[in-house]
Amino acid sequence: MNLSHRAWVSATLVTGLVGAAQAGPLVWVSMGEDAYQLLRAAGARMEQVEQRTVPIRVPGPKAGTTLGSETIHLLRVDEDALPRLSHEVHEKLNRCGGYIAHASREEGRRTIARFISPPKQALAPPNYVIDNAAQVNALLPLLQESQVRSTITKLSTEYKNRYYTTTGGVTASDGLVNTWKQLAAGRTDVTVKPYKHPAWPQRSVILTIKGTTKPKEIVVIGGHMDSTIGFTSENSIAPGADDDASGVASLQEVARVLLTSGYQPRRTLQFIAYAAEEVGLRGSAAIAADYKAQGKKVVGALQLDMTNYQGGVSDVTMITDYTNAAQNNFVKSLAAFYLPTLTVNDSACGYACSDHASWTNNGFVASFPFEAPMGQHSPYIHTAQDTLDKSGNTANHAIKFSRLALAYAVELGSDGPAPASPRP
Ligand SMILES: [Zn+2]
Repeated sequence: MNLSHRAWVSATLVTGLVGAAQAGPLVWVSMGEDAYQLLRAAGARMEQVEQRTVPIRVPGPKAGTTLGSETIHLLRVDEDALPRLSHEVHEKLNRCGGYIAHASREEGRRTIARFISPPKQALAPPNYVIDNAAQVNALLPLLQESQVRSTITKLSTEYKNRYYTTTGGVTASDGLVNTWKQLAAGRTDVTVKPYKHPAWPQRSVILTIKGTTKPKEIVVIGGHMDSTIGFTSENSIAPGADDDASGVASLQEVARVLLTSGYQPRRTLQFIAYAAEEVGLRGSAAIAADYKAQGKKVVGALQLDMTNYQGGVSDVTMITDYTNAAQNNFVKSLAAFYLPTLTVNDSACGYACSDHASWTNNGFVASFPFEAPMGQHSPYIHTAQDTLDKSGNTANHAIKFSRLALAYAVELGSDGPAPASPRP
């Protein structure tokens, strides 16, 4: 569906300033209806509001998903109102994210247009065949809950917060570069690089295991390293143990096992810790747009954001909106085949709820296995109480996502049955 410019419903709304103290610069953002109504209710200064209807997939009445829609608003808003919005989205809607930051109105319009009619995928979908059982089953037992737990502890206690503009946020990113370099030590086919974002100090971090026969085809497993409590400054306490130290810890453990076991993928595997997710998906949006611009072949992206709070009965909740249905089914088949005791269900998450949306928006295939059905996830996120004790001081839930992500990495990374034997 690609509507012409005339279809834009444009209304200019200028509402009263929210206290002179908060009159920051006006920035372009897009958000769902619920977040927009919260912003209005908060009396935030906003203007040039436009809205579009975006088709989304939501859990069906029975099994599977069905087509729904969501109203997305593009507007210019007082930048100082955004931390408040994150807080309100969390407090009142009990979910995270909620908006995407844009450099301009045009960029915002292009982003929404791409959600309405996603760009054609540059790459034919891979064969979602499970044909690496021997290798995956040999590697799964090597994953350790204690490793995931110690990573969550490190990220959520060594820094006051990991906000994208604070010292804690920058140091956490530098620390991750060092940790991942140690994991990669001795592997000449592995690189660990910080990804610089000119507009803010926190860098994303990318660990790359170069593929042997299809190095140009990339499989991405990502999570965000930043944390927030809404209004977050140098000394704010934002441990973000579940949001999202858990996701980074879950994927780091997969990288550790693949690297120490000598696993050699045919396709390139990238493990990414995104910066600045909490402030409009800025890090992942920059990386996904960059990959698109470079014509990089991303076979699939898996998002791990909040993996350690089992708020619902199910073990894994597949997010249905702003993700790829075919890859979601593949991830479910991996769970059924390799982790048959896991219970898996579906849930919709809402606009811009995590970094998967950045990949989807740039025409790539993305999936997002989440810790619980929406609304049953950790109620402590975006507060100083988002600490490991809220998960019983264990990573018993997060390790399930490491297992699922490892199966995903090896099945897509191997692109077909394993070679005779892994490199010694
Ligand atoms: Zn998060």
